[in-house]
Amino acid sequence: MLSSATMNTETASTPERSDFVRDIVAADLREGRIDSVVTRFPPEPNGYLHIGHAKSICLNFGIAGEFGGRCHLRFDDTNPLKEEQEYIDSIQEDVRWLGFDWGQHLYFASDYFEQLYDWAVLLVRDGKAYVDDLSADEIRSHRGTLTEPGSNSRWRDRGVEENLDLFARMRAGEFPNGARVLRAKIDMASGNINLRDPIMYRIVHATHPRTADAWCIYPSYDFAHGQSDAIEGVTHSICTLEFQDHRPLYDWFTANLPVPSVPHQYEFARLNLTHTVLSKRVLLRLVNEGSVRGWDDPRMPTLTGLRRRGFPAEGLRDFVAMAGVARADSVIEVEMLEHAVRDILNRNAPRRFAVLDPVKVVIDNYPEGLTEEMEVPNNPEDPDAGTRTVPFTRELWIEREDFMEDPPSKFFRLAPGREVRLRSAYFITCTDFLKDDDGRIVELHCTYDPASRGGSTPDGRRPKATLHWLSASHTIPAEVRLYDHLFTSPHPSAGGRDIFEDLNPESEVILSGCLVEPSLVSVPIGETVQFERVGYFCPDPDSAPGVLVFNRTLGLRDTWAKLQAQGRHDGA
Ligand code: ATP
Ligand code: MG
Repeated sequence: MLSSATMNTETASTPERSDFVRDIVAADLREGRIDSVVTRFPPEPNGYLHIGHAKSICLNFGIAGEFGGRCHLRFDDTNPLKEEQEYIDSIQEDVRWLGFDWGQHLYFASDYFEQLYDWAVLLVRDGKAYVDDLSADEIRSHRGTLTEPGSNSRWRDRGVEENLDLFARMRAGEFPNGARVLRAKIDMASGNINLRDPIMYRIVHATHPRTADAWCIYPSYDFAHGQSDAIEGVTHSICTLEFQDHRPLYDWFTANLPVPSVPHQYEFARLNLTHTVLSKRVLLRLVNEGSVRGWDDPRMPTLTGLRRRGFPAEGLRDFVAMAGVARADSVIEVEMLEHAVRDILNRNAPRRFAVLDPVKVVIDNYPEGLTEEMEVPNNPEDPDAGTRTVPFTRELWIEREDFMEDPPSKFFRLAPGREVRLRSAYFITCTDFLKDDDGRIVELHCTYDPASRGGSTPDGRRPKATLHWLSASHTIPAEVRLYDHLFTSPHPSAGGRDIFEDLNPESEVILSGCLVEPSLVSVPIGETVQFERVGYFCPDPDSAPGVLVFNRTLGLRDTWAKLQAQGRHDGA
């Protein structure tokens, strides 16, 4: 864990992007094995894309962009039982949001169903495929194990004519689901279980989002994927490591069929993140069981969730680049993702004032009824971001935690008799405070120094603390949702527990009664701002006129840097 994190720091500080996949592509171009590179991103539309998919998207589209080739978006829509138009639409939206464009090259495996069927017939004619009547259970028990060979089905040696007839009748809808399958006739004793007569077609009477009821047999992933690549002229079919053992089968189909091109498959390690589950199956369960607000819940690792949370696409792309591409599995700290996002937000996010837990301040020597417009910088990191005005009046709100009646020695903020600076406004000194019957502070009384306007005085006094503030007569109420990791454990799926037991009960904390500065009424959805001294926040689509809702994107403190430092101290 720590060593992988340390390795990633080194990757991050190496500007030129290089990895084993890019090296292969560069060599194939240099040595003339290909004229131009063609990649594809092949999602199955059975869920929303997550940050793991972002790695694959950035790799495939990134390579095409860097080497002057092209990248296709191809839906692997071969299982109508799990696929939906909603997912087809969301995937396109998410890839575009991430910053990539497939141009004219939008494809669907279902576009090739007729061609795939013809190729299946060809294999049957060549004696390389057969219709099997075994049940799913029998097929499983005949398959053998990693150490024992499988055994032949009693239907394996059917004649070609009978196979052609049965396969045509499967297509014609004469048989119920599961009655028969079409299998490739390869080798039931192969050391690679994927080559033990893999299934090419199943009977599934279901309506497909694109082909509707035209088909009741559907190709398997293995029978569709390589040939789809071949039809599209894909040169580098890049996928995750779990497909490595499928590669001989991928090659067997393209070798035994008259495909228009012969693509090659390369595997890389999938992205894993601490405190995060990257599996559409589990994410769907979280949605269906109501553990989250939906696929776009700000705690979800989906692209739509991260977007709602306020993570900019650029931050995700930077993170993927930092994480790198390797052949060995590793788990990356989610703090690295947060670091990449914080880095962008620190540079770009406009600063605003918001008070999450307000306590009233009355400035006794400030004129009643006066409103001054204070000029406040939008981003101290970026002078070009300009300034805005924030109204200042006699009664203000500050953060409750910025005052202590009886402060310990390390507390430098407001306290009785103590002077602090109000950002871009005045210095104030606390003279008195009021409590309610429960002993809770309800009002602070202060005086201000008129000579300190804008945040400095002629005598050069420097209060130890600078606080943010809001005018009590110019605030907008808001609900603020604080987000934290969805899973408490860094490795939620380890240890054989049901991961639902590991859900963090404090992953969402809702604060009502928060107040924000007037300019925040018009922040568009999708824009993230910094609430000064508090964190990064973005408006949530649940906002309505009069009911602003903000999501905490991230806190201000970068915890990744600290993890890195620990890693180095531990000698990792
Ligand atoms: P999941 O495992 O989350 O259910 P999947 O692999 O079934 O996802 P696909 O739609 O088949 O989802 O994935 C499309 C592409 O994204 C595939 O090429 C797959 O290898 C890649 N991919 C999926 N998950 C990751 C990940 N965690 N890291 C990198 N690439 C991934
Ligand atoms: Mg998959």
